Amino acid sequence: MRLRGVLTLFLLVGAAAHAQPFPEPRTQRINERVHVLLGPTQHANPLNQGYMINSTVIVGENGVILVDSGGSAEVGRHIARAVRGITHKPVTHVVNTHHHGDHYLGNAAFQGAGFISSETCRTLVLETGEQWLKEMERAVGHALPGTKPLAAGVTYAEGTRTERVVQGVRLVFWVPRGSHTAGDLLVHLPDDRVLIAGDVLVNGVVPTLQDGFVKNWLGTLEQIQALGAAHFVPGHGDIMTLGEVAGLRAAMLRFYSGVKAGFRSGQSEEKIRKTLDLSMWERLERAYVIGRNVNRAYLEIEADSFDE
Ligand SMILES: [Zn+2]
Repeated sequence: MRLRGVLTLFLLVGAAAHAQPFPEPRTQRINERVHVLLGPTQHANPLNQGYMINSTVIVGENGVILVDSGGSAEVGRHIARAVRGITHKPVTHVVNTHHHGDHYLGNAAFQGAGFISSETCRTLVLETGEQWLKEMERAVGHALPGTKPLAAGVTYAEGTRTERVVQGVRLVFWVPRGSHTAGDLLVHLPDDRVLIAGDVLVNGVVPTLQDGFVKNWLGTLEQIQALGAAHFVPGHGDIMTLGEVAGLRAAMLRFYSGVKAGFRSGQSEEKIRKTLDLSMWERLERAYVIGRNVNRAYLEIEADSFDE
């Protein structure tokens, strides 16, 4: 009897969560063919239901190239509806910028499209997809039965930049040395002066270094600044200017140099955290990752010091 009561309650809560409308993206038009769907920036929760990323809609000759598909099949369908508000052309290609579940678990809503990622992202999706799905279900508070981690069929290797014309649009698929993750893929549209960066760029959100490589990341940011692009689409937060990209790099460099100086003078992680000026990041969304960021940078600097 009691078990049935609990089950009923669970189902009701589940149904209520499903009935809740998704937050609508803010649509920003960069030019006639490039539109950005700016999603919520809070971590996955029952209110946003795992919708917490930006997606970019590139309207080509006969179809759409979509960059990043959301955190579940339902979020993917929500994004697909927003795409239909821009164009009636079908989504023919989906690009995954990296293997973090909030960016690609929505692939399941775009069956039939061609999926593109870095080679390493594909491997990581196969290895960690089920784990990311469970994590997402826990964060949103209900099961996501229609969501399956789908790995890309077309992949690019680390350290390559490949130019391709897709749906009449010139795209450069750029896989830098592991930066935000071991398998980032950035999409550069040289004719549009647009760079779509996944979480290698974030705006108004603390960058998550946990799966990252801080030194490589700083190098990638320098290369981003040299691209000649004018519009930089981050994984989370508003579209950035070149100046804002420079600001992010400066903040990350200050952070990295601070941890390095602390390490070299033999300070503990805890002590280092106290000596760093983190006031800028403490005000931002996801300030809870700062402790883990110190840890990751510390371990990376320690590992590098063995090679010196
Ligand atoms: Zn990420």
